[in-house]
Amino acid sequence: MDYEMFFRQELDGLHKEGRYRVFADLERKAGQFPRATFHGTEGPRDVTVWCSNDYLGMGQNPDVLAAMHGAIDGCGAGAGGTRNISGTNHYHVLLERELAELHGKEAALLFNSGYMSNWASLSTLASRIPGCVVVTDALNHASMIEGIRHSRADKVVFAHNDPDDLRRKLQAIDPRRPKLLAFESVYSMDGDIAPIAAFCDLAEEFGAMTYIDEVHAVGLYGPRGGGVTEREGLSHRLDVIEGTLAKGFGIMGGYIAASAATCDFIRSFASGFIFSTSLPPALAAGALASVRHLKASQTERAGQQDRVAAVRARLDAAGIPHMPNPSHIVPVMVGDPVLCKRISDELLERFDIYVQPINYPTVPRGTERLRITPSPLHADADIEALVGALAAIWGQVGLRRAA
Ligand code: PMP
Repeated sequence: MDYEMFFRQELDGLHKEGRYRVFADLERKAGQFPRATFHGTEGPRDVTVWCSNDYLGMGQNPDVLAAMHGAIDGCGAGAGGTRNISGTNHYHVLLERELAELHGKEAALLFNSGYMSNWASLSTLASRIPGCVVVTDALNHASMIEGIRHSRADKVVFAHNDPDDLRRKLQAIDPRRPKLLAFESVYSMDGDIAPIAAFCDLAEEFGAMTYIDEVHAVGLYGPRGGGVTEREGLSHRLDVIEGTLAKGFGIMGGYIAASAATCDFIRSFASGFIFSTSLPPALAAGALASVRHLKASQTERAGQQDRVAAVRARLDAAGIPHMPNPSHIVPVMVGDPVLCKRISDELLERFDIYVQPINYPTVPRGTERLRITPSPLHADADIEALVGALAAIWGQVGLRRAA
């Protein structure tokens, strides 16, 4: 086989469909969020980023940076091994305690990413609980799907955020079999939020264990940043709360918070935890500072909600279509992959605005979009510049604006 030829043909197919991904070469600027330097073909220039998942700008927070510097000076660069060989650092222990407390759980367990938290935890639970059936929302994240798939457990998919369909699916499962109900709180592409209380009621009725992904909610929702489950007073009804340290908390890494026995079980059996070098102590120290900061401060959460409302109001005034939802994610709907890429290119080339296009398979075909994530640090002038640029490009590419 001519492997090179095969790879090129496959990539050509992506180009033709407008789905080929181009990564912008960006240099984030400490202290200047949401500004970054874009390294383009004609040299470096400043751009405004509108698609960062560092939702609250905590990756630039001075307390977080100081904690990371301190830990590098105190502990060095790397963790030195997997947790069970030589890689458990005091910062890992402190961070796990802090996260357990945040979610009102007995324990927490760190992973190197949110992806790995889901993959390792779900694959371990579903494969090790005898006869387990996983009941999973149709729009769950790839990391959950892959973890469930790897477990080889039986899987039942229920219609997205639909308690009636969930009930039907649970009713159809042999009542003697253990069940693991897996869903998210805030869904990242549409920004909709699961009916968590209704799902917990059903889980209780049918004896299912509950697993929630709060990756797009931790730090952002709840009086202390404990996610939608904290905001709705439901943390105690979820057996496992999974989160990331990479989005609201601004750094990197993932975790679960659960009972001591659940964490110990996953710690003891999950290969994705056991066989991977642990997070560098500086990342754990930075995350600890970030979690502590957001437990105490409402400024970032309130600022973000204010900016989200301002962006939506300006988009409405300009007639740019965006999907309504109850979260901080503002999907500006384009509905065509080639146009979506073109708008993103024009924003960058002509207006120094960076928003990555979101195309299939991340979202269904025909729902291609620009996923705008306002942060507390976007100023009014940034919003004016974004919406003004979108309004100018919209007509030029032949899209209609609402009257
Ligand atoms: N869960 C969901 C719902 C996500 O959207 C993502 C990342 N985009 C992850 C898990 C993975 O988290 P991380 O980026 O920390 O690996």
